[in-house]
Amino acid sequence: MENAEKIWRLAGEWINRPLPWDSPCCYPKHRTGFLSSPSPPSMAISMQLARFSPSLAHSRVRSAPLSKPTLTVRCSGGAGLEPDFDKKAFRHNLTRSDNYNRRGFGHKKETLELMNQEYTSDVIKTLKDNNYVYTWGDVTVKLAESYGFCWGVERAVQIAYEARKQFPEENIWITNEIIHNPTVNKRLEEMDVKNIPVEEGKKQFDVVDKGDVVILPAFGAAVDEMFTLSEKQVQIVDTTCPWVSKVFFFFFFFISEGLVWNTVEKHKKGDYTSIIHGKYSHEETIATASFAGRYIVVKNMTEAMYVCDYILGGQLDGSSSTKEAFLEKFKYAVSVGFDPDVDLAKVGIANQTTMLKGETEEIGKLAEKTMMRRYGVENINDHFVSFNTICDATQERQDAMFKLVEEKLDLILVVGGWNSSNTSHLQEIAELRGIPSYWIDNEQRIGPGNKITYKLNHGELLEKENWLPSGPITIGVTSGASTPDKVVEQALKKVFAIKRQESLQVA
Ligand code: SF4
Repeated sequence: MENAEKIWRLAGEWINRPLPWDSPCCYPKHRTGFLSSPSPPSMAISMQLARFSPSLAHSRVRSAPLSKPTLTVRCSGGAGLEPDFDKKAFRHNLTRSDNYNRRGFGHKKETLELMNQEYTSDVIKTLKDNNYVYTWGDVTVKLAESYGFCWGVERAVQIAYEARKQFPEENIWITNEIIHNPTVNKRLEEMDVKNIPVEEGKKQFDVVDKGDVVILPAFGAAVDEMFTLSEKQVQIVDTTCPWVSKVFFFFFFFISEGLVWNTVEKHKKGDYTSIIHGKYSHEETIATASFAGRYIVVKNMTEAMYVCDYILGGQLDGSSSTKEAFLEKFKYAVSVGFDPDVDLAKVGIANQTTMLKGETEEIGKLAEKTMMRRYGVENINDHFVSFNTICDATQERQDAMFKLVEEKLDLILVVGGWNSSNTSHLQEIAELRGIPSYWIDNEQRIGPGNKITYKLNHGELLEKENWLPSGPITIGVTSGASTPDKVVEQALKKVFAIKRQESLQVA
């Protein structure tokens, strides 16, 4: 923790340090390039470009040729395809073919009704109807003003339900969990939607036969997986969230292809490496990386500082060292053949859609200043471009959580899958604020008695007896973007039962 704080402080100091180009008169920073989506609610992805005047002294960058170690690439990034494989043409043709569907099959009304029956909650409705606060016995619950199922998740689950209805007899497979929620995933299993088996970290597509149906989850799928399925002539049902698809588009066209939009200049061809703020083993990041060409994934500010320090030849905070050490550190998080001495000269920053918004922004600023210092302010447009691809739903849930933690609360209950990235950041916000916060994936983590099994943001699994204080209590509640309201209700009902039992004993 101390170390993390130090990194943040160092990064903050460096980012905020006044520099010659920070004068408004020579810092005409723009925000341009808005894209709107046909899907509700409207999306806007902002692209930040920087243009500046005076140059700074360039820092030394390591240039000694070093031998490249063999890389084990965990974040596959379409590694199974030939380097000259035309991803753009492939995707264009696939998405227009008869065996591809991303719009559903005309059963929307009935499948939404079924989902309402299975996933909505009277307790949550009561909270919403009462301005997000309600008291049951000794328990006052304050619900975050934005929580639970996002539109992208709802859409993905609904299309999966439609697929089952449309293909009642066919084998239906899914390439990953449709979303990160055990309740929903179990429900799909009950509907005989089977996961593609995984052996030694590799998906076994052999089980899929011509004529089967394969669902791509809300996080999307890597290009090489889509190619394999296309070759097998299966029916592909693509539930990829439209927001994630937009991120693929940005990576492909704006970063890899280097089509940098600039209000002053025309589109300009470049050759950028993607720095992805994300988790290299997360399905969305794997899929995104497959569109990115050359890339490196950094999961937090500490790793971003390391990369920037390397770019500056050790003159940022001295955290980096040799090229071999760099490649060892990021061995699962870089594209095949990545060479930090060559591939970090032109970088585009983007992020997994569900990262912590503030951290993404700080990483973007850090990288921007690093490239200005390395290549000169006047050359920044040739070396740096940044896209904020945090989705609206993630932002809204984080903003609501920041508001919730300002309330007077005894504790917070965060409900969401333990592998859910967006939920982990909701828990992180509560932890940073110093409020006792318990992240559970379903109600079975509560009990027996006044006991809870929960996770912390960094994945540590803990148990606590007497986690609910005695007497009247106020608890804050939120849930991740893939969590049905029903799961939150089941957890709250357990809380109510414990407190009811306590008041009976007191009486
Ligand atoms: S969290 Fe955002 S990107 Fe992910 S499914 Fe929901 S709307 Fe889409």
